[in-house]
Amino acid sequence: MFPFAYTRAADTRAALAAGARGGRYIAGGTTLVDLMRETVERPDEIVDIEALPLRTIAATGGGGLRLGALVRMADAARHPLVRTAFPVVSQALELSASPQLRNMASLGGNILQRTRCTYFRDVSAACNKREPGSGCAARDGWNRSHAILGTSPACVATHPSDLAVALTALDAVVHLLGPAGARQVAIDDFLLQPGGTPQREHDLHPGELVTAIDIPPHPRPLTSGYLKVRDRQSYEFALTSAAVALHISDGVIRSAKVAAGGVGTVPWRLAAVERRLIGQRPSAALWPSAARHAADGAQPLRHNAFKVELLQRTVERQLRIVGGTR
Ligand code: SF4
Repeated sequence: MFPFAYTRAADTRAALAAGARGGRYIAGGTTLVDLMRETVERPDEIVDIEALPLRTIAATGGGGLRLGALVRMADAARHPLVRTAFPVVSQALELSASPQLRNMASLGGNILQRTRCTYFRDVSAACNKREPGSGCAARDGWNRSHAILGTSPACVATHPSDLAVALTALDAVVHLLGPAGARQVAIDDFLLQPGGTPQREHDLHPGELVTAIDIPPHPRPLTSGYLKVRDRQSYEFALTSAAVALHISDGVIRSAKVAAGGVGTVPWRLAAVERRLIGQRPSAALWPSAARHAADGAQPLRHNAFKVELLQRTVERQLRIVGGTR
């Protein structure tokens, strides 16, 4: 370890003051402490925000939900409002990490968590995300788990959060508070593709804090769910995953929200799949014909070309499960 200052923020004002001088916010600590132990991150000051009043889940007008940033993953997964209105969120949370981690980790920390690329966590390896300009050991290394969508010459790491995939499908909005005031950013815009600056992962201004995540209202009835494919059935990150939410009325798909995980440098919205579903009647033939477009634009690496077909099959299966026609 290395020396660092620890500040416990008594309220939001104290937290923002510490953030403004460069302190790193910490809640459950399930990402940051690991990275500090491995010296991947070396903050001079960490700011404990556990005392902040950001732990509520509340219904918003029209059937939406507001999730406080410090709500524990386990608490959100079992909350009746979440389970009833957006099972895709509950399922994504329950398929994440381990029970012990879900009891500690916060929702805000979950969407901010850093990649599991092994080269990023190995300080002896070249990694543009950890050390800009040093190169990318994954490009010519063992890249079976890496991204096939949204990559750049600088970085091919996947975004690790299951929750963020469900939130992307549902058009969630991230609430931020910083020294310059409050603002809101669509999660699609909040999580950044690597481009030439893979070290910059979020649209966060200096000192800003995630305070809440809003899931907007969706037309009802809405059926939704999350499917995760991984090498083992617990405590493992996705090879592929699919979040699907469908609004079907009078036998026609009026709205389709589909996003994928395990394949993109950010949660990947499957707009081409959505377009092929909207206005159609669910049928056994519709799901594979739409899912065929799940990997449009994919650029596989040496060891992860299998993800193209796996993603198409994952999306097809989840469309069938949620859409209800076998
Ligand atoms: Fe680093 Fe990204 Fe390359 Fe992994 S994929 S080594 S995180 S630059």
